Amino acid sequence: MTAPVRVPLRLADAHGRVATDLRVSLTDRCNLRCTYCMPAEGLQWFPTDEVLTDAEILRVLDIAVQQLGITKVRFTGGEPLLRRSLEQIVAGAAQLRTRTGGSPELSLTTNGIGLDKRVNALAEAGLNRVNISLDSLDRERYAALARRDRLDAVLAGLAASEAAGLLPVKVNAVIMRGRNEADVVPLAQFCLERGYQLRYIEHMPLGPQHAWDRSTMVTQAEILTLLAQRYTLSTAAEPRGAAPAELWQVAPDATQPGGLLGVIPSVTAPFCGACDRTRITADGQLRTCLFSRTETDLRAALRGGASDDELAQLWAGAQSRKAAAHGIGEPGFVQPARTMSAIGG
Ligand code: SAM
Ligand code: SF4
Repeated sequence: MTAPVRVPLRLADAHGRVATDLRVSLTDRCNLRCTYCMPAEGLQWFPTDEVLTDAEILRVLDIAVQQLGITKVRFTGGEPLLRRSLEQIVAGAAQLRTRTGGSPELSLTTNGIGLDKRVNALAEAGLNRVNISLDSLDRERYAALARRDRLDAVLAGLAASEAAGLLPVKVNAVIMRGRNEADVVPLAQFCLERGYQLRYIEHMPLGPQHAWDRSTMVTQAEILTLLAQRYTLSTAAEPRGAAPAELWQVAPDATQPGGLLGVIPSVTAPFCGACDRTRITADGQLRTCLFSRTETDLRAALRGGASDDELAQLWAGAQSRKAAAHGIGEPGFVQPARTMSAIGG
């Protein structure tokens, strides 16, 4: 008798999407208090025993990559550099092999503080790329948005990432009305001159409860209008696909060599139909969308003795129930109870 053929599991949902990109939050803690993400006084952090250990994270990654078809892993938080064992976690993840035999693509989303001292070790451990958040090049505006005067530390992290060869360095900027619209063009110029890939992010309702207001959100259309006053833009040839950013090609001029600029228009032009993401929070909860209001408790199953196969099945089941779209702007939309830092952006 021939053995039954085992069909490999994948993270498919009922809307024709398959998740291959995993966001892993390594901590909910942070050394900044960005106004769009956290209240000034910070949050009640998860108790230490509720946060997944390094061994648990590596087991989850092993299942995700080797059993569920994940090919990209992004470490995030809170601030992932606050996890002292980040280098060991990256090194462990780099040992994994995807179904096609390659290493998973490993990247880090960070505020960049302290990155200058660790980026070489992270690159040696197998990190492929960094996304560094930088909302202003003006020291006072940066400090007002992040509620901490740390612009110099972020700039040191950016320069060190470039020197370490983690290219292209990517930069994320949230633009807020009345706060940092004046930074739209200076941030573009700074990134174009250095070959960094800048992505502006529309402000999403994921910060302190009720702090979001559609009228304070600077839209993709407004960002493009500001850019078009300074640069010649054309639609980039690369299709958007599952990537959240819409890309524009900037023509070179006497001050910069040209390059790509992106906008992540999560509110005004959501990319839900092409989403290929799945997420795990620092306290071991599976979320299929940033805006999910339900979670699946992977930690309880992990600590309750579930086998790798059982954990993979639990994850695949959760993903199969992923909602078609996040519905921001629709009448029934309700912001999730967790804020961005506790989800993992
Ligand atoms: N601390 C790291 C950082 O700031 O890059 C990683 C975590 S942070 C939650 C990830 C990304 O989410 C950052 O680029 C941040 O700007 C973005 N973000 C946080 N709150 C947001 C919101 N309400 N709307 C849009 N983007 C947000
Ligand atoms: Fe911290 Fe990142 Fe949230 Fe800013 S956006 S408070 S750096 S987690």
